[in-house]
Amino acid sequence: MADVHESLEPIYSQVLQRNAGETEFHQAVREVLDSIGRVVVKNPSYASNAVIERICEPERQIIFRVPWVDDRGDVQINRGFRVGFNSALGPYKGGLRFHPSVNLGIIKFLGFEQIFKNALTGLPIGGGKGGADFDPKGRSEMEIMRFCQSYMTELSRHIGEYTDVPAGDIGVGQREIGFMFGQYKRMTNRYESGVLTGKGLTWGGSRVRKEATGYGAAFFVERMLGTKSNNFDGKKVVVSGSGNVAIYTIEKITQMGGRVIACSDSDGYVVEDGGIDCELLKEIKEVKRGRLSDYAKERKATATYYASGSIWNTPCDVAMPSATQNELNGKDALALINNGVIAVGEGANMPCTPEAVKAFLEAGVLFAPGKAANAGGVATSALEMQQNASRDSWTFEETEQRLAAIMQKIHDRCARTAEEYGLEGNYVAGANIAGFIRVAEAIRALGV
Ligand code: GLU
Repeated sequence: MADVHESLEPIYSQVLQRNAGETEFHQAVREVLDSIGRVVVKNPSYASNAVIERICEPERQIIFRVPWVDDRGDVQINRGFRVGFNSALGPYKGGLRFHPSVNLGIIKFLGFEQIFKNALTGLPIGGGKGGADFDPKGRSEMEIMRFCQSYMTELSRHIGEYTDVPAGDIGVGQREIGFMFGQYKRMTNRYESGVLTGKGLTWGGSRVRKEATGYGAAFFVERMLGTKSNNFDGKKVVVSGSGNVAIYTIEKITQMGGRVIACSDSDGYVVEDGGIDCELLKEIKEVKRGRLSDYAKERKATATYYASGSIWNTPCDVAMPSATQNELNGKDALALINNGVIAVGEGANMPCTPEAVKAFLEAGVLFAPGKAANAGGVATSALEMQQNASRDSWTFEETEQRLAAIMQKIHDRCARTAEEYGLEGNYVAGANIAGFIRVAEAIRALGV
C-alpha cells in the first residue's frame, strides 16, 4: 500500500484476512486507510485503543433466510442481510439494497462507507446497511410485497427507532418501504414512524426525501465548481443510471442551467444533445417502471440509444456516475479527461474504481467522492427522523433549504479538512479525514 502509513498496514492485513474474498469491502477500507495515515502522523492518539480496528470491524452482521411464495405458488428462498457497522454517533442508519449481486461483502462495503458519510452530515446517525440477493426485475407487485413482508418478518426483531433505521437503496423505493413498514406495524403493534425512512407523505414521510440524493449531489458539485468561480450554467453533463439518484440529479442540474445529455440503465445508454426530458424519464421509470429503451423509442427523433459501449465516451464538462459501484474504470476516466471533463461527482456509492479516482486527481479534475456528494439522501432521512420524533411535517421549501445548507457544510468541511492536511482540493482525503475524526472522537468518548 503505497500511501498507507506503516502503522496502519497490519490493520489492513487483518481486514483482508478476516474478510476473505470481500473485494469491494477491501477497496472501501483501503481508500479510507490511505487517507487517514496523515491524521495518525499528526495525532497518534487517534490510532490508540484500537479505534481504527474497531471502525473496520462491524458491530454486528445479521444473515437470514427469506422464504416467500411466487405467483405460481412455488416457494422461493433468498438471503437477507443487515450489517450494523458503527453506532458511535447514533442508531445504525443506511439503506436496503435488493439486487442479485448483493452478498455480505457488498453490504459491508456499503455499511463502511455509510459510517463516514453519515458522520459528515453532522447529524446523529451511525452507519449500517442491508439488503437481499433478491432480483425485483420482472416480479409482480404482489411478489414484491410478499418478499418485503417476509424480509421484514425477520428484520423487525433487529431494528427500531433507537437501534437501527433502514431506508431504500437500489431496488428499494417508497413502494417497498411501504410494504415493509406495514409488516413492521403488524408484527410489533406499534406505529413507530421513526423505524424506517423514505416513507410516503401520508404515512410519516418527509418532503424532498425522494429527490434528496440527486438534488444533494447537484448542490455539492455546484459548490465545488464555485471554488473555481464556475457553475452548472451552460455545462454539458453526463449522468449514468436512470434510477432515483440519477433522475433527481438530472432534474436539479437542469434547473441550475446545465444540459444533461446522457443517462443509462443496465441494458444501455441514451444520448440526447438537446437535453434529457426529465418528466418523460420520470413517467417511464417511476410510473410505468419501464426501461431506458422505452424512453429512447418515445424520443427517437432526438435521442440515440446505445445497447453496448460506455456512456463515459460521451464528451462532457461534468460527469455524475449515479448507477452502481465500480461502474467507471481507469479507461473511462482517461476518456473523460481527454474529452475535457472538469468535474466528476459520485452520485452512487463508490462508482469510480481506485484507478479512475487516481487519474482524476492527477489530472486536476474536481472530484467529489460519493460519501460526501451523495450524503443528501441519508441527511434528509435524518430530517425525516426529526420530523417523526416531533410529529411535525415541514414544507418542500423549508426541507430543501435545510438539505442545501447541509450539502454546503459537507462541502466546506471536506475542503477545509483537505487544506488543513496539506491536500488542498482533494475531497477524497477531506471526506475520509473529516468523517473519521468525528467517529473516532465519539468511539473514544464512549469507552471500550
Ligand atoms: N441508500 C442511501 C445511501 O446510500 C440512503 C440511506 C438512508 O437514507 O438511510 O446513503
